[in-house]
Amino acid sequence: MRIYSAGEVCSVRMVYTNSNRFIVANAKNILESYGVRLVVRNEFASGAIGEVSPFDTWLQLWVVRDADYDRACRILESAISDRNAVPWKCNHCAEENDESFEFCWNCGSGAVGRDLVS
Ligand SMILES: [Zn+2]
Repeated sequence: MRIYSAGEVCSVRMVYTNSNRFIVANAKNILESYGVRLVVRNEFASGAIGEVSPFDTWLQLWVVRDADYDRACRILESAISDRNAVPWKCNHCAEENDESFEFCWNCGSGAVGRDLVS
């Protein structure tokens, strides 16, 4: 096993963050399945909301090794673009919505029973 210098250990970079902790947890699972080593920050920071800016409490994924950063970005890009590739059509107003939306952007109806756009 390779021993990393202190400089490399200090160069961890944030690869992903989102206000939705479930999405971040999902991204973490995807990256770890590809063997990317990660550090999670703000895992227990939700109690601090109100004292710091909301962004500072978002769950953050940092790559341990700088060399994994570009690969991790590509993995997430393809995973997220795959997920967003299937829009849905609102049952109420027939507007098309991005797959990641839980509510119609146009009328606010929920995505329950939504029709996938073919
Ligand atoms: Zn709608």
